[in-house]
Amino acid sequence: MTIEAGWNLDNSYARLPKSFFSSHKPTPVRAPQLLILNESLAVSLGLDVDALQSEEGVAELAGNRLPEGASPLAQAYAGHQFGHFTMLGDGRAVLLGEQITPLGERVDIQLKGPGRTPYSRGGDGRAALGPMLREYIISEAMHALGIPTTRSLAVVSTGEQVIRETALPGAILTRVAASHIRVGTFQYVANWGTVEELRTLADYTINRHYPELAADENRYLLLLKEVMKRQASLIANWQLVGFIHGVMNTDNMTISGETIDYGPCAFMDTYDPATVFSSIDTEGRYAYENQPYMAGWNLARFAETLLPVLHDNQDEAVKLAQEEISNYSNIYQAYWLEGMRKKLGIFNEEDGDESLINDLLSMMEKQGADFTNTFRALTVSKPDETGLSGTQEFARWHSRWQERLTRQKEENVSVSVEQLMQSSNPAVIPRNHRVEEALEAAVEQGDLSVMERLLAVLSKPYAYTSNQEEYCTLPEPSDEPYRTFCGT
Ligand code: AMP
Ligand code: MG
Repeated sequence: MTIEAGWNLDNSYARLPKSFFSSHKPTPVRAPQLLILNESLAVSLGLDVDALQSEEGVAELAGNRLPEGASPLAQAYAGHQFGHFTMLGDGRAVLLGEQITPLGERVDIQLKGPGRTPYSRGGDGRAALGPMLREYIISEAMHALGIPTTRSLAVVSTGEQVIRETALPGAILTRVAASHIRVGTFQYVANWGTVEELRTLADYTINRHYPELAADENRYLLLLKEVMKRQASLIANWQLVGFIHGVMNTDNMTISGETIDYGPCAFMDTYDPATVFSSIDTEGRYAYENQPYMAGWNLARFAETLLPVLHDNQDEAVKLAQEEISNYSNIYQAYWLEGMRKKLGIFNEEDGDESLINDLLSMMEKQGADFTNTFRALTVSKPDETGLSGTQEFARWHSRWQERLTRQKEENVSVSVEQLMQSSNPAVIPRNHRVEEALEAAVEQGDLSVMERLLAVLSKPYAYTSNQEEYCTLPEPSDEPYRTFCGT
């Protein structure tokens, strides 16, 4: 007996102009096996867990069989990659359709690694198991941290090998996203489409992500403003937990404001603003400290794509776009400061807050303190565990901070300083050595239990429970800096 999987797919993207995508089916794989299924996500999407685990369900998650109502396609997009503009598109992804959830939300269901598409260029359209499990872990950790992100529904192994530097086991990730519309999607249409098509894409995006703007005659300028806000908030969130994306190319920046494309990303241990993990980012373009600027750069590219619909007069359009973009750094800074205040348990505003925060950060940098554990130690009132104690400078800073906390009235707010700090400072993050350990067990030994335990701990980063403690320890000191790779 087959159980209905609960697919409720619509295909609004497939109804857009034909040049926006290529209708394209996944290429079947030899021997799909379900390795991990995100049961709570499945349920929230209205999908049946047993059905997804059945032979038919697994075949759907592998691209061997199309879910009912699917209209598979690869999306066209362009992008500035490390500053260079190129035509790209889904080279190793296929959108099956948009699931309408029981709550009436519309989310993209995309297979990552389903074989070659018309946009694959020299690539094989496939993905290796390690990087797909890595995306699963980090995206789910980000979600649990409360940071907007694409989600991971499942990973299946394909029973086939992919050839990278060596032969690796192949896999397919099912990715769930508010949409996959990127800055690069707008760049593609602005460059190669008509103004009419650009308006179609902008209206589609507004209806999907910013419906409250749809009736406004200034909606394209407002779209720019809202995307800037969501991105500024997103990047501030990354900075506040020490997340480094690694490839903030314009094709990896969503219009929905979700984090997307977990390639060479990683969380920082030791606080060092110049931290870079990606092996290909030799210039440090996407270093931790540069992320806010690079987001601003990408948003300026987004603004450029909108020029033809902002105003009939190009000079006026440029003026409008420039005015908006010039606000970005203030908007970002306000989100960052708001978040940093919370990390220190501060819920009112004083002029000196920024220097209080920056003085802490500069001590952390000087002492090589661990980013997460320093804030965790302050949260649980164990200043000795900040990695900073023992200096006069820290003692002075600490009493300055304590005094600052006395200048706010807890009666005026619904949470205490401790609660505010606990809900703003994760006790656990996906530390690189823990992620590597989980991936090694899964990929080398076929043992997923290490990853499952890690996922369970990462699902409650603000819980401050004793079972988290073993996940808070730092890696053994190493001569080599941690490196992540793009050849995913
Ligand atoms: P990413 O680094 O994942 O953001 O990918 C950048 C571009 O390269 C996108 O257009 C991808 O679809 C494409 N791409 C990455 N890996 C592959 C692959 N194995 N086969 C085909 N295209 C790929
Ligand atoms: Mg990408």
